[in-house]
Amino acid sequence: QNGQTLEDHTGGANRPAIWIDTGIHSREWVTQASGVIFAKKILEGYGNDASLTSILDNFDIFLEIVTNPDGFAFTHTKNRMWRKTRSLNSGSSCVGVDPNRNWDAGFGGAGSSSNPCSETYRGPFANSESEVKAIVDFVQNHGNIKAFISIHSYSQLLLYPYGYTSKKAADQEELDAVAKKAVDALQSLHGTKYTYGSIITTIYQASGGTVDWTYDQGIKYSYTFELRDKGRYGFMLPANQIISTAEETWLALMVIMEHTRDHPY
Ligand SMILES: [Zn+2]
Repeated sequence: QNGQTLEDHTGGANRPAIWIDTGIHSREWVTQASGVIFAKKILEGYGNDASLTSILDNFDIFLEIVTNPDGFAFTHTKNRMWRKTRSLNSGSSCVGVDPNRNWDAGFGGAGSSSNPCSETYRGPFANSESEVKAIVDFVQNHGNIKAFISIHSYSQLLLYPYGYTSKKAADQEELDAVAKKAVDALQSLHGTKYTYGSIITTIYQASGGTVDWTYDQGIKYSYTFELRDKGRYGFMLPANQIISTAEETWLALMVIMEHTRDHPY
């Protein structure tokens, strides 16, 4: 749609890109549903929304909506509250690895568990989960991803690195300023209030998380969202809040994508 041919993607440097994923924790259903609405925004916005059009003229957007498909299926069939992957763990009858503790960034450190029965089980080694390894390989082979946004629920937070260490990210000041602008835009639609900051100072220490790894790969604009709500419904957010959640989140995503477009590095 933006005038590219397939050849533009083969050989040589890839176009700069923005990555967005939803549903890496399977029970966080408002995220996958929002991902579908983001896809619609991207498709319908090109040629109609001037800012989105200029983003797409300069960047590819990669959107992975069902990032933990086995877990997502399990939330529909057996256990609505399933969070992890569905990997079998040798020596344990407990199933699954936390795919947000499985990345090679402080892997195995505080805020992750070595117990396969834990909801934050890190896995036997970094990138053991195919859901994680596929993204790691994609990011490294692509080599030109400029923003990476991983979307969770719930708590109404916008977070940036780090989670595994109290060391400040080198770009902390800029990441914080963009986060403030993004949550202001989000709040402007329906009044939904977000807190923002680094993972370790805003929620808790968490090791092996997605955006710590992407940041350490040189992807400066690495962010994690925790969408609605703040606990009244939690993971069981009513379906009648999907559209308003996605619409307000889209405004924050646009702020991050516009900033990425306007601050090439
Ligand atoms: Zn999550």
